[in-house]
This record gives sequence, C-alpha cells and structure tokens, in this order.
Amino acid sequence: TVPDGLRRVAVFGATGSIGTSALDVIARHPGRLRASVLAAGRNVEALVALCVTHRPDHAVIADPDLLDALANALRAAGLATVPHAGMAALDTLARDADACDTVVAAIVGAAGLDSTLAALRAGKRVLLANKESLVLAGELMLQAAREAGATIVPIDSEHNAIHQCLPADGDCSGVARIVLTASGGPFRGRSRAQLADVTPAQAVAHPKWSMGPKISVDSATLMNKGLELIEAHHLFGMPADRLDVLVHPQSLVHSFVEFIDGSTLAQLGLPDMRTALAVGLGYPDRIASGVAGLDLLRHGRLDFESPDTDAFPCLALARAALVAGGTAPALLNAANEVAVSAFLQGQLRFLAIPALVEHVLATLPAADAASLDVLRDADARARDVATQALTTGTLH
Ligand code: NAD
Ligand code: MG
Repeated sequence: TVPDGLRRVAVFGATGSIGTSALDVIARHPGRLRASVLAAGRNVEALVALCVTHRPDHAVIADPDLLDALANALRAAGLATVPHAGMAALDTLARDADACDTVVAAIVGAAGLDSTLAALRAGKRVLLANKESLVLAGELMLQAAREAGATIVPIDSEHNAIHQCLPADGDCSGVARIVLTASGGPFRGRSRAQLADVTPAQAVAHPKWSMGPKISVDSATLMNKGLELIEAHHLFGMPADRLDVLVHPQSLVHSFVEFIDGSTLAQLGLPDMRTALAVGLGYPDRIASGVAGLDLLRHGRLDFESPDTDAFPCLALARAALVAGGTAPALLNAANEVAVSAFLQGQLRFLAIPALVEHVLATLPAADAASLDVLRDADARARDVATQALTTGTLH
C-alpha cells in the first residue's frame, strides 16, 4: 500500500470475464482502490472503452502490431493513459513500483506465465486467477513468491474458498484433506456416448458460472477440476492423495477443508467471482463486492455426487499428471490448450479433447522439471505434437 493508502491495481486480462469483474469491484472503492494499469490481448476497442471508464495510467495491448491503433484511440478519447504493446511491456509494468502494488493475473492460458512471474519476483500482491501458469510452473512460482515476499491470493473460487478456511498464517499442518467442489458442467449426468456430438455452443453454456470460452470448455470436460487439483497441490502444499473432488451442482459450497480433529470448514456464497476478487482486493480486510449474501431458505438444497471419470477422462488424466510430476502437468496443460482451441474452432470433436491430451502424454515422456527453460520446452513440444496430430487427422 502506498502512502495515500490507495492500492494501485494492474489488471492483466482486463477485457475478460475475470478482468471486468475485478474492475466492477475496484470501481466500488474509489478511496481504496484504483485501476492503474489495464492490459488486454487484441481487442483495442474494448480496452479503450475500459480506459474511458477507469482512467488508468497505462494501457497495454499484447499484440505488438496494435500499438498505433491503441495510441490513436486513446488520443481520440482525450485520455492521458500511456499506450504500450507487446508482452514485455506487461513484465516491465508488473515490476514497476510506481505503476502498481497489486496485480490481477487474469490472462487465459500459459500466455499469463511471464507477467505473473514478474509480479511475484517483484514482491507484489498477486490475485491469481491464471491457473494455467501454476499448472505449468507452480513450484517455481511459489518459490519466487517466497523469495521476494510476494503475497498470493488465489482467485479461483475453490482455492479462494480454501484460502478463507485455512488459518491466516497459511499453516496446513492441521489439515487432513481438501475437497474441491465441481459444478459438473453443462453435461453432468451424460454418458460417454451422449457426449459424442456436443457442440462448442453447448459446451460454453455453463449452468452456474459465466466465464470465458476456454475455462467453460474445461468445465465441460472436467479438465478444469483436474487443473485445479494441480493448482491446489502447489498453493497449499497438499499431496495428491489428500486432494478430492466432489460434484456439487448448485455451486454454492465452493470447497471444503477437513482438519485432523474431524472438523470440516466450507465457504459458501453465490456463484459470482466478485466475492473472491473482493477477498483479494481488500486482503486482509473484507470489502463490499456487489454480491448479495446467500439466502439458504431460497437456495438451500445442497447435493453432492462422485465425478464420472469414465465419461470425463480429463480429470483422471490431470490427476495422473500431478502424481507423475516433473514436466507432466506442463505437457497436459499445453496439449489441452491446443485441443480446446481446436474444439472451439470446430476442428475437433468433444471426446477428442481427452484423446489428444492422452496422445501427447503417451508420446512425450515426462522429465524432471529442473528449470523454467525445461518447462517452457515441454510446453512447446507438447503444442507441436498436438498440432501435428491435428493436422494429420489422427484424432478426428
Ligand atoms: P477470458 O477469455 O474471458 O479473458 C481472457 C483475458 O486475457 C482477455 O482480457 C484477453 O484479452 C486476455 N488475453 C488472452 N490471450 C492473451 C495473450 N496472449 N496475452 C495477453 N492477454 C491475453 O477468460 P476468463 O474467463 O476471464 O479467465 C481468465 C483466467 O482466469 C483463466 O486462466 C481462467 O482459468 C481463470 N479463471 C476464470 C474464472 C471465471 O469465472 N471466468 C474462474 C476461475 C479462474
Ligand atoms: Mg474454479
């Protein structure tokens, strides 16, 4: 926090689902929070519209060819916001003490790794939504945070719930087990055969959460819960055999922490990411999020069931990658990113998503994840193998 007490927040992925939710919470607290940096991938128009509303000091567009378009649009809007382009600008601003003290890491996919790492290495408060970066390089990220004294507040709703249930000092020695809840996605209850012809439009129509397209498909395949197991392993230091998943279709209980004395703590709330973001933006204080409290008389029914790993093999694939360790989670994540993108573009059937991930994991044996370079190399190789399988049509 700076002398005037105002937190200056960089929102990376500002035009996305998490980014706009974060900006909604920030705008409710003008005396406490200010959006000082806004960054987006390619959509200059949406980024400039956010700049008009939030008047940040800096705006970044990831695509380096769009610098002039961004500069012209900011000037035309009469804004003093400084334009930047390219991923390197994100790293620079993440590190810059004058630009921000808090970073909302809400870029989708492995593309978010570098800027998140830069913020952690600079000792910033990092509100971590970008789960793929943790799956890819969780150990190195947690190590960087420890060394630089950075604070990580998990924003993924399950991990944010667990964070709220754990002791303030993060001591997990009294924890017996962590149970992640899963909505089950739009295809809960379907058999494998009933998943053969599902379309991208059906897959992104999530029953409980409104989210970006990639995570929506991950929720439909249950890969999202698999990525979250790996995320929980890194964030809370839990071995795979003390991490469980329960399907809970109402999405009101966001996860459970079971302690060694038989107590189970849960965090409940409406499925709206602004609650988790407010926990991070105000941390350690509680601040208003715009989300109503839970009316249990109205929403009170809570159901739980086991996940169906036969219809949704991605969950088992991710658990196996977590147990294998090393570069296996990086390979899994990269293969999944290629598969989901191909599915969204109509180039791959739904059931071919796990098949493609499995193909990549079978083709590339996991190695020790000795360094960031090794992990980046695994990510690149997995993308190559997955893309090759797509172009040769092996999995259609
Ligand atoms: P989204 O697709 O709605 O938004 C993604 C944002 O990232 C956009 O602002 C886009 O411009 C930016 N972006 C995309 N590619 C980029 C690149 N190469 N370089 C720079 N910027 C890029 O996604 P989302 O749903 O907001 O999810 C963001 C992250 O948060 C994901 O990792 C997701 O798993 C995680 N998450 C999201 C939710 C949710 O409710 N949406 C919940 C939990 C976790
Ligand atoms: Mg989640």
